[in-house]
Amino acid sequence: MQPPKSLEAIQKALAENKISCEQLVSNYLQQIEATKHLNAYVEVFGDEAIERAKKLDARYAKEPEAVGKLFGAVVSIKDVICYEGHQVTAAAKILEGFHSLFSATAVERLLAEDAIIIGRTNCDQFAMGSDNTNSIYGPVRNAADSSRVAGGSSGGAAVSVQTNSCLIALGSDTGGSVRQPAAFCNVFGLKPTYGRISRYGLLAYGSSFDQIGIFAHNVVDISLMLDIIAGADEFDATSSTQTCDTFSRFEQLALSREPNTNRNSQLIAHSLQPKYKIAYLKSSIESEAIEPAIRGKMRETILNLENSGHTTAAIEFGLLDYIIPAYYVLTTAEASSNLSRYDGVRYGHRAENTKSLDEMYKKTRTEGFSEEVKRRIMLGAFVLSAGYYDAYYTKAQKVRRLLSDKINEIFAQYDFILMPASPIAPWKIGEKNDDPVAMYLLDIFTVLANMVGIPGIAVPVGFDENNLPIGLQFLSAKWTEGNLLMFVDSLNRKIESTN
Ligand code: GLN
Repeated sequence: MQPPKSLEAIQKALAENKISCEQLVSNYLQQIEATKHLNAYVEVFGDEAIERAKKLDARYAKEPEAVGKLFGAVVSIKDVICYEGHQVTAAAKILEGFHSLFSATAVERLLAEDAIIIGRTNCDQFAMGSDNTNSIYGPVRNAADSSRVAGGSSGGAAVSVQTNSCLIALGSDTGGSVRQPAAFCNVFGLKPTYGRISRYGLLAYGSSFDQIGIFAHNVVDISLMLDIIAGADEFDATSSTQTCDTFSRFEQLALSREPNTNRNSQLIAHSLQPKYKIAYLKSSIESEAIEPAIRGKMRETILNLENSGHTTAAIEFGLLDYIIPAYYVLTTAEASSNLSRYDGVRYGHRAENTKSLDEMYKKTRTEGFSEEVKRRIMLGAFVLSAGYYDAYYTKAQKVRRLLSDKINEIFAQYDFILMPASPIAPWKIGEKNDDPVAMYLLDIFTVLANMVGIPGIAVPVGFDENNLPIGLQFLSAKWTEGNLLMFVDSLNRKIESTN
């Protein structure tokens, strides 16, 4: 039996004794086995997950109120998120064999609510990449067409949800790594506001950009997970104290939708759904660089929004050409510093047969990092070097500031921005590996959210003529995930009810 695709349905089945946690885990394990060729998981914690499930079943049988909010939620974690006593490698040789000494705060929090972690998922090395082909474990394949990429860098996380081999996946998003693979794999993927979820225990790539993100089959599961793992953390000075209460807002809405509540209150709940102003980039429906099917879905979505009573407007975004260069200057600069800790002394792999400390460092790093990671470390070291600092790093920081100003200006007038998640559909594995810059340019729609720290969610909207998934994204102002998720959920309910 395939487990239901929402936590609510799973918890109902558990409450009615139609399934146990143990059966649930074993169903997911079968599904992992059946989809092994897609290479989504790099390690499965099978026995351990079954053990934990048995304990939870026993506790639930004795005292149903004694289980946490994530009872029945089986979760995968990207191989850049620390889980105490488990390997974490960032899909890199340099970390092979390294076991985490502690768990990420997000992991601690989901375990405290009785979630079960079923395995760690494949990704681009140190989360650097857009198609999950930059991994020592080999590429991840898209379940929609296994000759094609699943997106990146959290490709394994996206496929783990796409194939229903777990309920929810944690990934990370520095420049689109949750939203773009979610769009490629027909699932929802949220990148929260920078600072919303503690980065403690997330292997750092670009620290001022990185955020843990959430993949799921629906928005309500994302909200619950977000509420649980978000919030202040003494181990991450950039984590925010802002409260997250999206899930309880969904609960209130669900109450008003109960069949036994009277028609009047349902009508009131419906009329209370706010009407929003949504901006979209003019170029995103006009530019030839965007595949026609994606432009078509943009137009269709805009029309649907208008038909639902929302207002839409095309806007110009003059700074578009500067986003990618600035992003790659800043993130490589931060990466070159963050990755300096992998020296062969403190973690994982160490080169053999070296005669001096210097040689050991060099050989270890030469062997331990992929071409792409080395390219970025060198690029980052270059833009930070004394003679070029102002020309590249400082200038890119100025672009970042201009982008923030521009985004503030837009959100002073509009509630959401609608954009494609990717200009093109998932490509054939290996097709884009010869031209790194061409691959960087494909991040054009996702990196903006990270440059300015705002939340964004990828929403599946259908398929193209080759049956490849298309996802669009909605962005909103900082700390407004609540509105963003409620809004996306209302759109989806509308789509479901009209189908
Ligand atoms: N593709 C982008 C990059 O390679 C984004 C990666 C990410 O979000 N981790 O930098």
